[in-house]
Amino acid sequence: MKFATKAVHAGVHPDPSTGAIMTPIYQTSTYVQASPGQHKGYEYARTQNPTRDALQASLAALENGRFAYAFASGLAAIDTVLKTLNPGDEVIAANDLYGGTYRIFMRVFAKFGLKFHFIDMHSPASIEPYLNANTKLIWLETPTNPLLNIIDIAEVCRLAQARQIRVAVDNTFASPYLQNPLDLGADVVMHSVTKYIAGHSDVVMGALITNHEGWAQEFKFLQNAVGAVPAPQDCFLVLRGIKTLHLRLQATCQNGLAIAQFLANHPKIGRVYYPGLPGHPNHAVAARQMRGFGGMLSFTLKNDSVPNAVKVLESFQLFALAESLGGVESLCGHPATMTHASIPKAEREAYGLVDSLIRLSVGIEDAEDLMADLDQALTKV
Ligand SMILES: *Cc1c(COP(=O)(O)O)cnc(C)c1O
Repeated sequence: MKFATKAVHAGVHPDPSTGAIMTPIYQTSTYVQASPGQHKGYEYARTQNPTRDALQASLAALENGRFAYAFASGLAAIDTVLKTLNPGDEVIAANDLYGGTYRIFMRVFAKFGLKFHFIDMHSPASIEPYLNANTKLIWLETPTNPLLNIIDIAEVCRLAQARQIRVAVDNTFASPYLQNPLDLGADVVMHSVTKYIAGHSDVVMGALITNHEGWAQEFKFLQNAVGAVPAPQDCFLVLRGIKTLHLRLQATCQNGLAIAQFLANHPKIGRVYYPGLPGHPNHAVAARQMRGFGGMLSFTLKNDSVPNAVKVLESFQLFALAESLGGVESLCGHPATMTHASIPKAEREAYGLVDSLIRLSVGIEDAEDLMADLDQALTKV
């Protein structure tokens, strides 16, 4: 099945009791058994829920995976991957990471004896000096947040597979419509479903998808044993959002590219970070591993300063100043004080995240209206 058909149909079957075409919201905590241990596959709602099952089947199909597990947030999904590791294990991660990922690594798991290395993965060979017998996981995010760096997933997987190290990819920025890391050799895909997959800024949720039976069993065990499960109503909302994932992403990519080009040619702009621009350092890798370049981009001003960046952010009328991304509406953000405040300033600046950087999540509004909004905000500095 092609992507659009999977987005509309995968995981969803007419409800057996009524024929309802939409999977109902099974708002129940438990299921009645005919005799002790004799049930219909459902015992307790932390363990199994039919609305969540439908969503998990849909998510697996979208990422070309065999198994998917949904969690109460993207971070709960990341937490689950880390809990499969043991004290003394080492993790290699990209240095330009979502702030919350950095925070859970360093402030939650480091004290349990996991060791993290954050490195520039522009060229995958830079990983090699950090590999040793304790290396158990490579954690990638591509495109990265907020500098839109591109990491060559297939190349990293080749290096890792030779040493039997697992590779996990946070695919939130690309969405399954633009990039399928399992097809490129990754062992697990993680999503903040909150973003493009749900797509309407009304749900917080996470997911893990894998083809690896052993890892799937660990995720399933932890989903139940730890209990960070999503609520059935939220699963329903995400199932509805997924039906238009391909259409939303097509519009997002069109707008993203138009706005990146507009900014690249604007006299008030310093630098534009967008993998769809030919000048992007890993544009060729992005063109190879992604089916489009998405709607996330960052930029600095020519007259670069924090007060000027703040002035622009305050002047937008359409772009809403808010954390998060991937919804139908366009958002703008200031990573240094918002999404990435949990990364120490010195560390941020060492890899190029300057305090004056502005990040946009381009939505599906009319591109001309969005450009007019950018233009009027830029005239204020
Ligand atoms: C938002 C986000 C997360 C965290 O997900 P939540 O759903 O907010 O817990 C992880 N990675 C990336 C790239 C994100 O944008």
